Amino acid sequence: MKTEVAIVGAGPAGSIAAHRLAAAGARVALLERATFPRDKACGDGVSAHGLAALERTGLGEWASQFTAPEVLRLTSPDGQVLDVQPEPVNGHCYGRTIPRRLLDARLAQAAAEAGAHLLEGTRVRSVERANGCPLRIAAEGVTVEAQMVILADGSNAPVTRRMGLVQGPPELIAIRQYLAGDTGPDKRMEIHFEPWITPGYTWLFPMGAGHVNVGTGTFTRRVHQDGVALKDILARFTSDPAAMGERLAQAEPAGPVRGHPLHTRMEDTRTHAERVLVVGDAAGLVSPLSGEGIARAMESGEMAAAHALMALAAGDFSARALAAYTRDLRARYAAEQRAARFLQRALHAPRLLNRIFRKLRRDEDLAMLIGFIILSHRSPRLALRPATLVRLLT
Ligand SMILES: Cc1cc2nc3c(=O)[nH]c(=O)nc-3n(C[C@H](O)[C@H](O)[C@H](O)COP(=O)(O)OP(=O)(O)OC[C@H]3O[C@@H](n4cnc5c(N)ncnc54)[C@H](O)[C@@H]3O)c2cc1C
Repeated sequence: MKTEVAIVGAGPAGSIAAHRLAAAGARVALLERATFPRDKACGDGVSAHGLAALERTGLGEWASQFTAPEVLRLTSPDGQVLDVQPEPVNGHCYGRTIPRRLLDARLAQAAAEAGAHLLEGTRVRSVERANGCPLRIAAEGVTVEAQMVILADGSNAPVTRRMGLVQGPPELIAIRQYLAGDTGPDKRMEIHFEPWITPGYTWLFPMGAGHVNVGTGTFTRRVHQDGVALKDILARFTSDPAAMGERLAQAEPAGPVRGHPLHTRMEDTRTHAERVLVVGDAAGLVSPLSGEGIARAMESGEMAAAHALMALAAGDFSARALAAYTRDLRARYAAEQRAARFLQRALHAPRLLNRIFRKLRRDEDLAMLIGFIILSHRSPRLALRPATLVRLLT
């Protein structure tokens, strides 16, 4: 099969890239190892930036059917509880919770409707490069010849790693489970920093009709070197009345625990090479503070599509031409990632967290800003402005 652009992976990054390219008239093959609808370990929290990307894909109305949490409950290491409830903007405060089983299937469908050739159940094994020639993408049951490839194969990035474009192990790891029988309040999401959870956090995101997505994330070295079992933390979180009150007393598992490591280091990834662009989690775009990555996956998919269109128009697929994509990506995310990693240090300092909570309980505007930063609705850089630091720490 011959095409102009082959895309490896139909998560949010790959499907949005395929959608934009196909909508602009390019020939695109979107290769996905799974068959939709498929589950994907995720908190299902789609931020305001993510909703904006869905809007640009013509899926704004479709997204509006999903739960829009209104209150964020934060619990500090020493048990202080803070409820943050901002005014809704465009019908939501903290974005929406959209099950990935539905979101990813809808995005892949949108790409196919725009004209992309969606190949499901098609695991890519290798991408062969020869100078100046089109690429050969070897997948189960098909070989695709393409002018360019966009690698959107997620945090584990099996193909991107095999091509030598990602160095170093992933920094974070997270798991989640669906439960049924939550007694609510059904628009209240929760984030917890109890001492047996940090460094890291646990979350409860309401999905509607008594269903919740609960999960926990931490540093991979804590799991691999210190032997911390994330499943035990999650089990304690959901069963401990001190953490959850009566909220989950009647709740039952509504699916398996799933998870995977998260690649948060864009500096460890070469996001372009001759005829190659890397997007989404594979590019190390997950926030080191919140673990959020859906919006960035979609935005980087849009950026890669724009650069691929320029390369196709100019017939120039050189690494030098495609470096402009990496420059755009860095301009958009490098400072955000640095700020998020700086703030991440607070996760190792329970006493500092307790002190910050005491401040936030007395300063509603500041609490709202921090809530938005934790959920990736606002830039982490805003917390590092001198005036904000003074308010937080004095
Ligand atoms: C437990 C957990 C909770 C999270 N919670 C949130 C949250 O609430 N909000 C948020 O914004 N982010 C969250 N994230 C991060 C979010 O899931 C990712 O940032 C997002 O999925 C990235 O999208 P992507 O398209 O880059 O990669 P993915 O969604 O991982 O998609 C990659 C796709 O590539 C396919 N693929 C892989 N290898 C191959 C191959 N060889 N051939 C063909 N196809 C292949 C996979 O099957 C998959 O469909 C969470 C992550 C975890 C683990």
